[in-house]
Amino acid sequence: MSQHPYQLGSRVFHPKDTIVEIGDIKIGGGHFVKIAGPCSVESREQIFNSAKAVKEAGGQILRGGVFKPRTNPYAFQGLGIEGLKMMREAADAYQLKLVTEVMNEKQIDEVIQYADLIQIGARNMQNYDLLRAVGKQPKPVLLKRGLSATISEWLSAAEYIATQGNTNIILVERGIRTFSDETRNTFDVSAIPVIHQLSHYPIIIDPSHATGHSSYVPSMTYAGIAAGADGFIIEIHPNPKEALSDGNQSLNFEQWSTMMDDINQLLPVVQQLMEK
Ligand code: PEP
Ligand code: MN
Repeated sequence: MSQHPYQLGSRVFHPKDTIVEIGDIKIGGGHFVKIAGPCSVESREQIFNSAKAVKEAGGQILRGGVFKPRTNPYAFQGLGIEGLKMMREAADAYQLKLVTEVMNEKQIDEVIQYADLIQIGARNMQNYDLLRAVGKQPKPVLLKRGLSATISEWLSAAEYIATQGNTNIILVERGIRTFSDETRNTFDVSAIPVIHQLSHYPIIIDPSHATGHSSYVPSMTYAGIAAGADGFIIEIHPNPKEALSDGNQSLNFEQWSTMMDDINQLLPVVQQLMEK
């Protein structure tokens, strides 16, 4: 008989919530994390301004891609390690942690010298060699849901990481492909309670990639929080119209700070309800 496909990640075998710790930041088990930043690191000025905006509105972790998985091979591919070094300086200047994506195994050793958290993108959710490789390194992993992955496929992907010893895994619901074409993807809000029931890993939401439009990001963020998400990762940009990637779904700094004011009111109410 074959084994349970995700026994290490299953709540059946491990009833207690996993709490991922990054310095003094805790994620999961009632601890909510706020991650924001640009889709891509584009310049020193852009990443420093973004870090400042993340910090001022109460964010804890700076996001930013330097190796970008672009559908169009002619689109901006990212600044690479030089961009990551700039991002590290920006994060340090504003006492933020940072998360960035790795696209292949060769990037891992160098990236973990600068990053606090490693992102595996949706397109790589079933890249099993890459999953095993991030399972062997010490930094926590953000595992995005694949473009059309079922929950069971997603938890099985997490299991590839966990079998190598790293169980500091945070799942990211970033929308899935459906027939809907008014949004970039369909935000599967039901994935949040389902994951909480099936697994002990924290689950955070990415309403930017889920919707593809900045105007839908605040409402979907509130929906995800109300459904019990353990945090969010959101794209912001000093000038979304000029962004080299994902400008359409990026909030400007004013929209970001207004949304954070609303979240600060919403979060305590939801957390109180969840405790009941
Ligand atoms: C990103 O975070 O910018 C990204 C490429 O996300 P995803 O892998 O979810 O498409
Ligand atoms: Mn993006």
